[in-house]
Amino acid sequence: MTGRKLHAETLALHAGWRADPATGAVAPPIYQTTSYQFRDAEHAADLFALKELGNIYTRIGNPTTAILEQRIAALEGGAAAVAVASGQAASAFAVQNLARAGDNIVSGTDLYGGTWNLFANTLRDQGIEVRFVDPADPEGFVRASDDRTRAWYVETLPNPKLVICPIGEIAALGRPLGIPLIVDNTAAPLIARPLDHGAAVVVYSTTKYIGGHGTSIGGILVDGGNFDWEAAGARQPLLNTADPSYHGAVWSEAAKPLGPIAYALRVRTVLLRDLGAALSPFNAFQILQGLETLPLRMPRHCENAVRVAAFLSGRADVTRVIHPSLQTGVQAERAARYLQGGQGGLLGFELAGGREAGRRFIDALELFYHVANIGDARSLAIHPASTTHSQLSPEEKAAAGASEGYVRLSIGLEHIDDILHDLGQALDRAGE
Ligand SMILES: *Cc1c(COP(=O)(O)O)cnc(C)c1O
Repeated sequence: MTGRKLHAETLALHAGWRADPATGAVAPPIYQTTSYQFRDAEHAADLFALKELGNIYTRIGNPTTAILEQRIAALEGGAAAVAVASGQAASAFAVQNLARAGDNIVSGTDLYGGTWNLFANTLRDQGIEVRFVDPADPEGFVRASDDRTRAWYVETLPNPKLVICPIGEIAALGRPLGIPLIVDNTAAPLIARPLDHGAAVVVYSTTKYIGGHGTSIGGILVDGGNFDWEAAGARQPLLNTADPSYHGAVWSEAAKPLGPIAYALRVRTVLLRDLGAALSPFNAFQILQGLETLPLRMPRHCENAVRVAAFLSGRADVTRVIHPSLQTGVQAERAARYLQGGQGGLLGFELAGGREAGRRFIDALELFYHVANIGDARSLAIHPASTTHSQLSPEEKAAAGASEGYVRLSIGLEHIDDILHDLGQALDRAGE
């Protein structure tokens, strides 16, 4: 296609693939193979020496997975992407690619629970300190940083608070310091574009909206190709000093003939090689299948959520509704700036009847599934205080925004009248 800039709807169907050169197959084949026959000894040597990029072993790369990587990089406006086994692996690799024992990163406090545990416990046990700050205050990231700070980390639209992160303001403060911003955009694919606002790396759990059908766990890291790692010098030793695990390669140098992909190259050649969290080709296929319709699905998730937010706001038994469409002041300004394609399909609300009403409401739902997931085509609900957040103290629950009567909804693609009917009948029964 002739260099014209394609729209998201078109990229989601076409980027990274035309047809199988061997058979003409149009749908991406599932290359269910561990290894790849080298053309000859020189070809093999060139691949290992990174003189040429190509298939060696599926732990490090696979042709089905490569289609997913190219398609998501194209949609995101990035230079390259690396798919991994889960969103958790993507978050861990995003940090481990820049920080090692003795280093630190600064993260916003509003995080997915799994990321919180990874940062507060597992990375700490590996010697990487994570310093937490309020993401609504960009200057807090600067104050928490020192000369061992390798990255800043935030989520675009963290739940349960659902307050949009000021990505551009934070990224702009980090760049002169040589500190890249990593953004988890799982809750807002297509509707928010973190790289356009100066983020350097975007991570996704593709398990959620991108796969979209609740079938496959997966994750991906997108290298924006927009961060000058070399200029960051001693701030980024893992990309700017010789890597003894790869015959002394300096990744910011080694990537030069291949493009602005030093960050992605190291994720693949070092972290996938050594830690091995590879995506299976079958899951890559399932996630690609979901991705084809993401540009159609996201707007409908968002439209339905706006209608649900308005409906719940009119109920006397609901004390508070949380959705970007209802926010005011600086939160509304940030939502308008960063959520240009819709205001998201996640929504929270507080029941007047507290914890017991929350549990009764969940049990009374007939259409909504009661699951610990988001971003499925089906509508989902959960009561965090008795499930995902039940290990937290009352103070921690309040700080996380998951109070006793709080219910989280992930609004699906069913007809809006059926969604509202189910919520209405369950609220009525929860209040009996
Ligand atoms: C689910 C989720 C993750 C973790 O992804 P998995 O694919 O479940 O490992 C990370 N971040 C956010 C925002 C998520 O919703």
